[in-house]
Amino acid sequence: MEKLVYLDNAATTYPKPAIVYEKMDYVNRYLCFNVGRGSYKGARESADIVDETRKLLAELVKTEKPQYVVFSPSATIAFNVIVNGLEWDISKNVFVSPFEHNAVLRPLYSIAQKNGARLFELPFNKESFEFDAKAAKLLFEEHKPDYVFITHVSNVTGYILPVKEIAELARKYGAVVILDAAQSLGFVEVDLMELGVDIAVFAGHKNLYGPLGVGGFIINSCSNIDGVLKDAIFGGTGSDSLNLEMPRDLPGKFEAGSPNIVAIAGLNAALKWLKENIEEIRSKKKKLTLELVGELKNLGVKLYIPSDLESHIGIISMNVEGFRPEEVSLVLDRRFNIATRAGYHCAALVHRFLGTVEFGGTLRISLGYFNEKREIEYFIESLKSIVF
Ligand code: PMP
Repeated sequence: MEKLVYLDNAATTYPKPAIVYEKMDYVNRYLCFNVGRGSYKGARESADIVDETRKLLAELVKTEKPQYVVFSPSATIAFNVIVNGLEWDISKNVFVSPFEHNAVLRPLYSIAQKNGARLFELPFNKESFEFDAKAAKLLFEEHKPDYVFITHVSNVTGYILPVKEIAELARKYGAVVILDAAQSLGFVEVDLMELGVDIAVFAGHKNLYGPLGVGGFIINSCSNIDGVLKDAIFGGTGSDSLNLEMPRDLPGKFEAGSPNIVAIAGLNAALKWLKENIEEIRSKKKKLTLELVGELKNLGVKLYIPSDLESHIGIISMNVEGFRPEEVSLVLDRRFNIATRAGYHCAALVHRFLGTVEFGGTLRISLGYFNEKREIEYFIESLKSIVF
């Protein structure tokens, strides 16, 4: 195929809806003024775009307070702000799922090294991927959980974790629950109240179909975490400038420096597009995923997905006997112009869980709304010609 077949949507969705590029271009040329720092018309209009984007995100996660939506340059920075804002000492116990991304694990590891906090892995069944609530309860009895970090959708296996069940159990022990919604928001329902999480972290450039350069976190309006979470980045906010302390109010408390108005405007357009098309996006991607999984099962390659496909969305990790994932990915790119990803996918724990450390990780195929059935067919034909 002449045209690139892009199967790396878990890294970032591509392309974005046309309206995203158009709005970014417009704002970049005519409305790129610094938000909250001027009272002139252009600055107010840019601020309106930011406020509206907060409202759209709050609506998406069904929280009532748009000011509880905090922007940052990425999900990774958002996790750094949260982790550094939590209270730490030697008594703290932190639980993570084996599916966490390094955006969560590395800040936690770094802070645990400094403060002596202890990191534990939540138990999951290695065959079915099911959460082992019984074993988790025993662990929680022994080591009272202070913070529990759960990814909603694994960026390696596409597994949708039972967040509500885990959060409910963790809250019984008084834990703060932090959700990594980087791979889920925009595709899987994220209702903060219903899931029972204190904070959800998002990435604008994945299933929200916005651009790179904007992510953040959303605090559940029913949680009291904003009183507990300390400010962790410091700088100008455009308000109360004579005061050397950061503002107490949200979102200013966690947002220092000039926001990326162009990226936020792109996200704004993406969120409106998503709202109009969500059902079609979901059904098209689910259909494509089922077709791809079906074809791969027929080929007999090793798939690392949950046994219950209801708990899975369009990210498929696989391996082919006798081939390293990076070899297959390289040939798919060079010979067939198909973009996939091979390796460990920035997820340190999951490869021990899956048993893929010594294979060099997995070959990951991840679908997006703009993929077409003929691209799946082309991928399958190309894969066959490489490995059989
Ligand atoms: N969490 C998950 C589950 C992810 O897949 C990613 C991105 N691969 C991140 C966090 C970090 O997102 P970003 O790189 O945009 O900061």
